[in-house]
Amino acid sequence: MMNKEELAPHVKEISRVLEGKVKEQDIERDLDNYLNVYRMSVEASRRHIVRKYGGDPNALAKGSNKTLAQLGLNEGSVDILARVMSSTTREITVSGTPKTIQSGVLADEAGTTVKFTVWDLTKADLKPDTNYLIRYAYTREWNGQPEVHLGNRVVVEERPQEEITVPEGVSVPPAGGRSAPQTVKVSGLSDGMNNITLTGRILSLKSREVDTPSGKKTMFSGIMADETGRVEFTAWEDFKLREDEVITVSNGYVKGWKGIPRISFGEKADIARPNGEFPSAEELSKEVRRSIESIEQAGGAFDVVTTGTIVDIKKGTGLIFRCPECNRVVLKGVCQIHGKVQQVPDLRIRVIVDDGFAAMTAVMKREVSEALTGVTLKEALDEARETMDTEAISQRFEERLLAKPIELRGTVMSDDYGLSMTVTEAKFATPDVRSEAEALLSKIEVI
Ligand SMILES: [Zn+2]
Repeated sequence: MMNKEELAPHVKEISRVLEGKVKEQDIERDLDNYLNVYRMSVEASRRHIVRKYGGDPNALAKGSNKTLAQLGLNEGSVDILARVMSSTTREITVSGTPKTIQSGVLADEAGTTVKFTVWDLTKADLKPDTNYLIRYAYTREWNGQPEVHLGNRVVVEERPQEEITVPEGVSVPPAGGRSAPQTVKVSGLSDGMNNITLTGRILSLKSREVDTPSGKKTMFSGIMADETGRVEFTAWEDFKLREDEVITVSNGYVKGWKGIPRISFGEKADIARPNGEFPSAEELSKEVRRSIESIEQAGGAFDVVTTGTIVDIKKGTGLIFRCPECNRVVLKGVCQIHGKVQQVPDLRIRVIVDDGFAAMTAVMKREVSEALTGVTLKEALDEARETMDTEAISQRFEERLLAKPIELRGTVMSDDYGLSMTVTEAKFATPDVRSEAEALLSKIEVI
C-alpha cells in the first residue's frame, strides 16, 4: 500500500501536467483508488489519470532522476541536473540533408563529466557555464561511456547559478567532432544515423539487378541480427557476403522506411569478419522483446515482441467488408474508388496498446483476429445474418479485448498518427484478469 507521503510527489507531477486544472485532492483520491484498490502500476495509474482529465500522458516525467555517475549506457529516458562546461555547434549531414547539432560536456556536483549532443536546437540550446534541468534525455554508448542525447522529446529548464557547484579542477574532455565511427547495437539504430559500426550475423541474403546511371549493378539485401534484434540491410557494393556469416560493418548509415530503421552500406563502408563467439542463427531468430517506449525512440522496429494493455478499440474492428478490386473497406457495398462492388467480408482488429510509458496502434488481420478472439469469420457472418447487425460482433470483440494485457509480435512503423504494429502473432498475456480489468476500465470511462 502506498501512503499519503509516497503518493504526494506523483500527485504533484500529475497536477503539473494537468496545469492545475484538477484539484490535488481529486488526483490523490484517484491515484489511491487505482494503486491500492485496482492494483495498477504507478506508471499506468499516472497515465490513466492524466488521460482521463484530458491531459497528455507523455508529458509526465518518467521519474528517473540520476546523477551523471549513475547514468547507464542505454537509458531510455532520464532527467539530469547538470552544468554545461562547454558547448559548440556544427553541421552534419543526415541522409544527405545538412543539419546543425550542438555538442559539449556536462558536469555535476560530484565532478563527473559526460558528453552531450543536442539533435534539435529548437528544443534545447545549451549555453556554457549555465545550469539546466534536462528532462527526457536518453543515453547511448560511445567508446564504453554513456553520452547524453537531447532528442525531440527533451524539455530543458534553466536553473539558478547557485544550484550546482562543480568542484574546481574538473578536467573537461574536448567535445570534438565525431570522426571515429559510432558502435551501435541493432536496438540502438534510428533513422538518420551515419558513420556507424554494427556487428551482426547475416540471417538471409538475396541479390537483384538494378539500373543505375552508370549501368546495371547488383545490389544485395537481407536481414542481419545481433542479440538485441533483427534489421534489414542493403549493400550497394559486392562485399562477397555469405548467408550465416558474422560481419562488422563500418561507416554504414541508417535510412528508415516508415520509421523502421534499415542499415545501408556502400562504397565508403568497410566489411570485416571478426573472430570469436557470436550467437547462432537459431538463437538470433528467436523473438526479441522491446518496450513500446524503446520502439518509439527508434521510430519503429522490425519483427519484435512487445506487451501492454488494450486501452481503446478503434473503429473498424470486427466484421468489415472490402472492395475486391482495391481491398479498401467499403460502406454499404460502395467503394469510394470503384463504386458499387461485390463486397468481400473480412475480420479485423485495431486497438490502442499502452505499456504505461508509451502507446501504439495494433492492427490484426483475419487470421490473427480469429486466433485471438476464437471467433471465425464464418461465425461472425452467420451471427451478422441472424441478427442483421454487424455491430454485435464489434461489441463482442470489445468485451473480449478491452483492458486485457496482451503480447504482440510484428513490425512497427510510424506515421503522423504515431506508432502502428502490423501484428503477426497475438496472445493474451495473462489468462484471467478480466473482471478486475473491466471494473477498472468502466471506472475510468465513467468519471
Ligand atoms: Zn475499390
